[in-house]
Amino acid sequence: MSYRVLARAYRSATFDEIVGQEAIATTLTNAIGSGRIHHGYLFTGTRGVGKTSTARILAKALNCLESDAPTTTPCCKCDSCVAVAEGEDVDVVEIDAASNTGVDNIRELRSNAAFRPARSRFKVYIIDEVHMLSTQAFNALLKTLEEPPEHVKFIMATTEPHKVPATIQSRCQNFDFKAIGAPAIAEHLARILDTEKIQADEVVVRRVARLANGSMRDALSLLDKLLSYESEKLTAAVAEMIIPPPHDELASKVMACVAGRDAAGALRELDAALQGGRTVERFCDHLIEHVRTLMLLCVCGDDTDLVDIAEQAKPQLVEQASKFDGPTYVYMITLLEELRRNVKFSGTARALADAAMVRLAMSHQFTEIGTLLESLDQGAQASSGTVAAPKKKATRAAVADSPPARSAVEPEVAAPVATANAAASTVAPPKSVSSEQWNRVARDPVVQRFKEAVDGTLFDVRPIEPAAVDESKEHASDEPADGVDPDA
Ligand SMILES: [Zn+2]
Repeated sequence: MSYRVLARAYRSATFDEIVGQEAIATTLTNAIGSGRIHHGYLFTGTRGVGKTSTARILAKALNCLESDAPTTTPCCKCDSCVAVAEGEDVDVVEIDAASNTGVDNIRELRSNAAFRPARSRFKVYIIDEVHMLSTQAFNALLKTLEEPPEHVKFIMATTEPHKVPATIQSRCQNFDFKAIGAPAIAEHLARILDTEKIQADEVVVRRVARLANGSMRDALSLLDKLLSYESEKLTAAVAEMIIPPPHDELASKVMACVAGRDAAGALRELDAALQGGRTVERFCDHLIEHVRTLMLLCVCGDDTDLVDIAEQAKPQLVEQASKFDGPTYVYMITLLEELRRNVKFSGTARALADAAMVRLAMSHQFTEIGTLLESLDQGAQASSGTVAAPKKKATRAAVADSPPARSAVEPEVAAPVATANAAASTVAPPKSVSSEQWNRVARDPVVQRFKEAVDGTLFDVRPIEPAAVDESKEHASDEPADGVDPDA
């Protein structure tokens, strides 16, 4: 028997077998069970998440010859089921809209739809990548969708639902296919390897599952690639040779350089990633995801269930998370997101990315602005007699001994808030600082970006204890501060 690629050989064949889209499978089986079958379905979601497989299963369920009516458990053996599974049934027509975009294709479809199915209950049209249809073609399709013959069902699939006209969407039942979770993919891969009697290290399976980024098809083709190199035992060494290092490993290296203030190292890691075929955008995505994980570990603690990480990778991540504090991670995400947005429209994406790496590695300098603000704040207190609230204690003891860590960063957490208090408590700038100096600090782009970052809801504002608020503050707090607007 000739070799069939895994993605085809292990395509899910029944509603029970659909991986990672259980809610959709349940909704569809309930609809079939209760006879409420819609005439048009729109399946949306990224590639490889099961849209076409589900469309074929639905078509089999509608037309299975072993049953007198649509069934939730198609037999997968009758002529109809077999032909549909291969995409070759006379009554289940699969159209790739990417290569049949024109109005003529849809006109042909409409005239064919008028005829009754050859042997099945329904004539089913599965239109893949439906967003590729031309406007005229959509209009022609709309006419059929508005008044479809009794025996016709449409199942449309798209990766870009926003390109499908609302008039089409509103005449269909929409199903949004989610990216499949890495654990679900890993479980499925392990089952397949078991069936194929192939030994594989667990770490390889996990790595493939993570690299697949939510797409089962990508996971299976990666596995195919590994198996064509080594078909009996998949070890970590084999995986190392064949597939690129997982993005979290790469992001982890970059962040290690950043924590060590090693800009050159961060630039080398970026270069390696781009050499390995990643785009700057993908690199940003992965790095943002990694920084998010570190931020959540830092802010929510080691045992948070908001991040999905393998047990063996956890100690290293927890250690890395302790290198910076929450606000600095927020700043990093802001910086990377800005980079990701800018490279899309830039002819100098590489330069922007390099600059961002250097900026990240210099995060400790950014924190020194915080120290400056702190000292300004103290000047303000000395001149106005206001007493600030006690400083918030670091919650994570482990943080204290790390390089540009909490000790350097902490003042910066307090700074904008303290500045706000100081600004509100004094009508004029403190004597030790000229109003020009105040304005300069407030106008500094780094200070402004920092303010934007900490203005979110992630951080609590330190309360001013009632005893600490004196009359002059209460009197002045409603008036706009001179020069420095804390909300600017
Ligand atoms: Zn059947």
